[in-house]
Amino acid sequence: MVRLVMLGTGHAMVTKCYNTCFVLDSDKGSIMVDAGGGNGILTQMEKAGLDWSNIRALFLTHAHTDHIMGVIWVIRQINSLIQHQKHPGPFQLYGHSKNLDYIKYSCHFLLCDSLSDRIQFLPICGGTQLTECGIDLEVIDIHSTKKEQLGFRAVIHTDDKECTMVCLGDEPCHEANEKYVKNADWLLSEAFCLKSEEQIFHPYTKHHSTAYDAGEIAQRLGVKNLVLYHTEDSDLEHRKKKYAEEAMQNFKGNIFVPDDLEVIQIS
Ligand SMILES: [Zn+2]
Repeated sequence: MVRLVMLGTGHAMVTKCYNTCFVLDSDKGSIMVDAGGGNGILTQMEKAGLDWSNIRALFLTHAHTDHIMGVIWVIRQINSLIQHQKHPGPFQLYGHSKNLDYIKYSCHFLLCDSLSDRIQFLPICGGTQLTECGIDLEVIDIHSTKKEQLGFRAVIHTDDKECTMVCLGDEPCHEANEKYVKNADWLLSEAFCLKSEEQIFHPYTKHHSTAYDAGEIAQRLGVKNLVLYHTEDSDLEHRKKKYAEEAMQNFKGNIFVPDDLEVIQIS
């Protein structure tokens, strides 16, 4: 059984929700994907009722502040738990080698305690295959024009079947990566804003896209379930309805527009 626990759902500059990051929570442990922009990650973990000792790995997509700064707090927390025998270790941190170097440097500079060697920094790049918590991950280079960014195609095994999930970080699907998305059971896609509000939020100048665009890609590539996140936060009360309605203009499968802390059953 695997659950997608959304710790945050907003873009970098949101103030009414947390930055986009989530946990893939399985019976064999949990993988955190990004950590948001700060120590709000501690609050979100507490509110979600997740146990830090189950977090066995963190997959860092890229080094923008809204994804990487929370990682320092995660390491501070995990390191302390390991040193007090409250986390079994090891804890694997996966990311681009340059980003891991930055995190290592930041931890040595900012944190008082030395890092346990049970915290392992594991460089990855497009094409890397790894298995964590019973989930097979193939790393995808999302071909960002801004900064190196990694996503993944996950194969989640359950007793009688398997399902696929694709995460492409916080940018729309590059055509070179359509092969990974094709016929995926789950696509986790950024949707910076509504197409109808494009003139207000200017998604394309920031290399982002809209709920309408995400729906179009998901439909064309035969995706079954579409999760929209990394959005603006001007109207969270109606975000779920508005974004789903717009994506639905193109996409005929299931659409999820989660709020922070919402849990989606994956398998
Ligand atoms: Zn972002």
